[in-house]
Amino acid sequence: MKTFSRRNFLQVMMMSGAASTVFSSHSLLACTNRIQKSRLGIVLVGLGYYSTDLLAPALQLTKKCYLAGIVTGTPEKAEKWKKQYKIPDKNIYNYQNFDQIANNPDIDVVYVVLPPSMHAEYTIRAAKAGKHVFCEKPMAMTVAECESMIKACKDNKVKLAIGYRCQHDPNTREYMRFAKEKTFGKVQMVACGAGYFDPRTDHWKQKKALGGGVMYDMGVYALQGARLATGEEPIAVTAQHFTTRPEIYKDVDETTLFQLQFPSGAVATCHTSFGINMNYLQANCEKGFFKMEPFSAYSGNQGSSSQGVIQFPLANQQAKQMDDDAETILANRAFLVPGEEGLRDIRVVEAIYQAARSGKQVKL
Ligand code: NAD
Repeated sequence: MKTFSRRNFLQVMMMSGAASTVFSSHSLLACTNRIQKSRLGIVLVGLGYYSTDLLAPALQLTKKCYLAGIVTGTPEKAEKWKKQYKIPDKNIYNYQNFDQIANNPDIDVVYVVLPPSMHAEYTIRAAKAGKHVFCEKPMAMTVAECESMIKACKDNKVKLAIGYRCQHDPNTREYMRFAKEKTFGKVQMVACGAGYFDPRTDHWKQKKALGGGVMYDMGVYALQGARLATGEEPIAVTAQHFTTRPEIYKDVDETTLFQLQFPSGAVATCHTSFGINMNYLQANCEKGFFKMEPFSAYSGNQGSSSQGVIQFPLANQQAKQMDDDAETILANRAFLVPGEEGLRDIRVVEAIYQAARSGKQVKL
C-alpha cells in the first residue's frame, strides 16, 4: 500500500485545489497526521491522582503513544508538568480554551480523567474538535449521556475507548476465556468484591453532583467481574445500600451489595465499598472453578482454577492499555473496550440504584 508523507499529501491537496474547498483546516491537519504518524500524541484532561500517579508515568513507557499535552485549571500544575515532562507551551490548555485543541496537530487523542459528571461534556467537546477519546470509568452518569457520547464520536468520525484497564490485563483475559470457551462447563455462580477504605471526607467521590457514589466508582469493577466471568449480560438485579459514616456519605452510597441474574440461570452476588478493603472474584462452574485475588489491581492480579495457577506477568497495565488503544487507532480497528462496553455497565448501574431505592427487583 502506498503511503504519503505529510508534505506530499499537502502538496497534492494544494495542487488539486481540494484543500481549500473540501477540507476545513483542522480536518486536513487531522487527516495528514493520521496518514504518517507511528505514535499518537495524548493530552491528559484533569491532572489529579490517576493522571499524576499512574497515567503520566505509564506514558513514559508506551511505544505507540506519548504525553503530548495537558489540560488543567491550575497554572502551578501546568508549570510543574511542563518542566517534568518537557511539554511545549502550545500544548498546554485550560478548561476555557480546551476547544482550540482542534487546531493542534500534535494532539491525536484526548484522555478524559475528570470526575464522572464531566466525562460526557469533555468527550463530546473532544469529538467535536476531531480528536479520538479515551474516557475514564465510569463512562458517565446516565445511559442517555453514554449514548450522546457514542453518537458524538460517530458523527465526528473519531473513536471512543473506555479506560477499563483490566480488560487489557492477560490475567483478566484468561478468566474471560474460561467463560467464553466454557472450560469448566457453565458458570453457575460468581461472587465478586471491589472496595477500599477511603479516609477522605470532602472529595467528589462523596458528592452526587460530581458523579460520586461507590457503585459508579468501585462498583463497576465488581460488575465487570460478574459480566466478564459469566460472559453474559444480567437480566435482573436487586441491590441494597449500607453506610457506616453517614456524616460523610450524605447523598451517595458508601457500601452497595447487588445481586445479578443471567439468562443461563447463573447468579452473581457482588459487593462494593468505600469502607472495606476487598478485591476478589470467585466463579463456581459445572465442572470446576476459577478465582482471582486480586482480580482488578494495577499489578499482581493472580488466581487459580481447577487446572492450576493463573498468573501472567504484566510490566505496566496502563501502558499496555494505552498502547493497545493507540495501536487500534493506527490500524483503524475496533477497540477492545469501546464506548458501547461502558454503556452496558451504566445501564446496569442505573438499574442497581433503582433497585436499591425501591427495594424491588429491577428487570433489564
Ligand atoms: P482526582 O480528584 O484526583 O482528580 C480529578 C481532577 O479533575 C483534578 O485534577 C481536578 O482538579 C480536576 N477537576 C476539574 N474540574 C473539577 C471539579 N469541578 N471538581 C473536582 N475536580 C475537578 O480524581 P482521580 O482519582 O484522578 O479520578 C479521575 C477519574 O479517573 C475518575 O473518573 C476516576 O473514576 C478515574 N480513575 C480511574 C482509575 C482506574 O484504575 N482506571 C483509577 C483512579 C481514578
